[in-house]
Amino acid sequence: PGLIHRLPAHWAARTPDGEALAFEGHRWSWRQLADRTDRLRGALRTLGVRRGDRVAYLGRNDPACLETFLAAAGAGAATAVLNWRLAPAELAYVVADSGARVLLADTGRAAAARTALAALPDPPRLVVTGGADDTDGTADEPGTAYEPLLARAEPLPPAPDTAPDDTCLVLYTSGTTGFPKGAELTHRSLLSSCAALLSQVPFGPEDRNLVALPLFHVGGIGYALGGLFTGRPTELLRAPAPEAICRAVDEGATHLLLVPAMLPGVLRAGTEHTAAFARLRHCLYGASPMPLPLLREALSRFPDVRFVQVYGMTELSGAVTALDHATHRDPRQSHRLASAGRPLPGVETRVADPATGAAVPPGRTGELRVRTHQRMKGYLGRPEATAETVTEDGWLRTGDVVRVDDEGFVFVEDRLKDLIISGGENVYSAEVERVLVEHPAVAEAAVIGVPDEKWGESVLAVVAVRDGARIEESGLDAFCRTHLAGYKCPRGVAVVDGLPRNAAGKVDKNALRAAHGAVER
Ligand code: AMP
Ligand code: MG
Ligand code: MG
Repeated sequence: PGLIHRLPAHWAARTPDGEALAFEGHRWSWRQLADRTDRLRGALRTLGVRRGDRVAYLGRNDPACLETFLAAAGAGAATAVLNWRLAPAELAYVVADSGARVLLADTGRAAAARTALAALPDPPRLVVTGGADDTDGTADEPGTAYEPLLARAEPLPPAPDTAPDDTCLVLYTSGTTGFPKGAELTHRSLLSSCAALLSQVPFGPEDRNLVALPLFHVGGIGYALGGLFTGRPTELLRAPAPEAICRAVDEGATHLLLVPAMLPGVLRAGTEHTAAFARLRHCLYGASPMPLPLLREALSRFPDVRFVQVYGMTELSGAVTALDHATHRDPRQSHRLASAGRPLPGVETRVADPATGAAVPPGRTGELRVRTHQRMKGYLGRPEATAETVTEDGWLRTGDVVRVDDEGFVFVEDRLKDLIISGGENVYSAEVERVLVEHPAVAEAAVIGVPDEKWGESVLAVVAVRDGARIEESGLDAFCRTHLAGYKCPRGVAVVDGLPRNAAGKVDKNALRAAHGAVER
């Protein structure tokens, strides 16, 4: 399936002056991108990076992160793109876990990086990218500011012995429980994912890809491969601010991946901005459940946008199922708006009893298992954790409880870890949450199981109220009872200003459990 680091040279040989990358008003052609990544590869070599090594990147979205990824991949090394929000102690943990030889950190995170590295016995070399440190010589180790490093470096072409199954990217899973684990993604896994996604959202000669999600997330860096693969420009945003997204669409971006939590901002961005957004051609969304009222509003406000829902995970290099645009617009299939769609090409799925692995009867819930070239090689340095996640015959256990309808549409009901068991009955969070967000006063909702003397666990609803609206607990209860069996109805309601979410927009249920007296899972 090819090698990722060859993509800039591939397009540089065909359209050298074609636009490869745009960021904050600067543009790079394919020739420039290929040249810069060759130089960076040379620089990494002088810093000691060899085949099989890791390089870490820490910072806000910046072209330097993509350049690092491409440069290191061509050296047979992998880039661990780290969450820039990590505190120094967490950072020290993942840097040590990744075994990185070099850490590139942007100026905003340089201080945190120095604190983290000071705690390590054998710290990587620090290179400071972006902003003033590049030019004013304040990088503390002389000669390790990014741009001067590139300017001085001898270009180094990709190593001939890199292979499709080499790890080229390490992404740490959001790690809601225990310590974060680094998923080892390969040229093959990432390019397979890219090809599968392109079957849903093709790129034409005028198209531009807008990358708004953080690059340390597979929805950022994995999604960014779309432009690199098709030779179309990538517009990279430092942060997914709604106005910046709408402005980029106004300036010609045609493809975007967002997470549901970003959509309210786009809808509230003001008439001029939302009018611009309406010109987007393909809007992918996913990574967490999409509230139906929000989706319906988006479909009606943006009638010409082709919405595609994706479901996937880091360990699968991105999306493995998609709800296509046509189904979104088909009134006879409106019940399927709650579905994550069908498997992408090249993806095998099965629904299994999570304990035994045996197939469950059609239409019944079970754990989704996936077999595909998109699968990670494993968790870096953790064979036991890998063996718990990948079965001997190559199926990845997603940890998600799903139901599949008679035409193969997958409905994500819950994460196994979040499943609530009340009075011996399974309560699937997504089902309850879908009802709660239909209540006119509810802006967002999450349910968790809290200890209950009688039922073992009972359902607690944590809700944020719409601006100007009020919630009566009795009214919400009556509303739930018309839609849900009694044992699924929340026995308590906690009103909050907003739900705690991680950088990928996922609700942090452990934070909710901690705040509401339930045991973290
Ligand atoms: P991560 O482990 O951070 O890569 O996130 C993957 C998880 O996000 C999946 O296992 C699902 O629980 C959730 N997820 C991803 N896409 C969707 C979707 N379209 N609908 C509901 N949940 C999703
Ligand atoms: Mg995760
Ligand atoms: Mg996960």
